[in-house]
Amino acid sequence: MLQSLWGHESFRPLQLDVIESVVAGKDTLALLPTGGGKSVCFQIPGILLGGVTLVISPLISLMQDQVSALMGRGIGAFSFTGYVSAAIFAHILKRISRSSCFFLYVAPERLHSRQIKTILRTCSVRLLAVDEAHCISSWGHDFRPQYRTISELRKELSGIPICAVTATATPRTVRDIVKNLKMNNPEIVKGSFDRPNIRFSVDLKTDARRNVLNHLHKNSGAVVLYESTREGVEVWTEKLRLAGISAVAYHAGMSDEARQKSQTAWMRKKSRVIVATNAFGMGIDRPDVRLVLHVGIPGTMEAYYQEAGRAGRDGRPARAHLIVTADAIESRRSIVEMNKGIGRYFARRRARRLFAFVKRYADRDMCRRWAILGYFGQDSPPRCGNCDVCLATIDSQQIDPELDYTSVKIAPGHRDAIQ
Ligand SMILES: [Zn+2]
Repeated sequence: MLQSLWGHESFRPLQLDVIESVVAGKDTLALLPTGGGKSVCFQIPGILLGGVTLVISPLISLMQDQVSALMGRGIGAFSFTGYVSAAIFAHILKRISRSSCFFLYVAPERLHSRQIKTILRTCSVRLLAVDEAHCISSWGHDFRPQYRTISELRKELSGIPICAVTATATPRTVRDIVKNLKMNNPEIVKGSFDRPNIRFSVDLKTDARRNVLNHLHKNSGAVVLYESTREGVEVWTEKLRLAGISAVAYHAGMSDEARQKSQTAWMRKKSRVIVATNAFGMGIDRPDVRLVLHVGIPGTMEAYYQEAGRAGRDGRPARAHLIVTADAIESRRSIVEMNKGIGRYFARRRARRLFAFVKRYADRDMCRRWAILGYFGQDSPPRCGNCDVCLATIDSQQIDPELDYTSVKIAPGHRDAIQ
């Protein structure tokens, strides 16, 4: 079925584990890194189980993409994103009653509307899917309080499995998801977060401009340079151009047209470097990025790993380098403290805590990969042999140069269940 509808030869690692568990009626939490094909994990069970699959998703663009992809495969789907008139609602009910399976995408804010209640009462809902499940945890980096109300649905939908998926979840976030969704003895399927082909490194208190140019000269190929502010993006684009390096800017303050132009120039290799804020990312996939440089320090480890992970998607050697200057820390700190006003106290406190992890990552003289994977709750050897810290130790200890320290084993994905 996957082949005829999705055109893939086989399932990617761990997808099958998730699908089997959901179809067997178990509550399932899938932790799969970006690009791991998460939506398939609830779409295939939805088709196999039949009836209505209710999908809760935080982003309108994500919902619309998935709905049009399903409809393109001849599968009934609809997203409740805006006002739905009585006529359209009646039409949807009719489509549901005529389809063997139907996918209904809902933003958490719409979950308790009268129309959704009607569907829960009159249609056969057989699967509850929660996309980007880390949004339920105040420890996650995209906390959405409305996600906490999802568990109220379980009273009306007792006896059906719940499938929650996410790409970033620390052990604490996992516990939060399980607790807040009231998952019952869930199967937790965990993919490896390791990206062994990326060499991670950090520079502290350095002359950022010289450091960046040095990296650009030493490495060839496409580059993403991240800054935390729009002004910073403009300044760096200019600095690089003055140094004779082709660079384009990308941030949310630019017009759609100007942003599109930058993106196209970089995707078509007309420009080597794209200088961007975190607005750059969603849906942009260039596999041959050789270097991701951060001159602006990210606010969370989740954001850092997601952005750094744009390097080397083709599996070939790539680098992720973080430059930490006093200015960059100050600039991030002011973004964190911008959360002003009543009720913002907890948001600010959370942002400070999440940022502290990034600073600790940069400050400590520990293997970078071990630190990152540890943050995401994955065991790995204390030395990876392919980061600045490990390589510096190897140099100083004069270890046999014949040994291949760059061959890092990928930890196999494993399943475990919470007791
Ligand atoms: Zn290392």
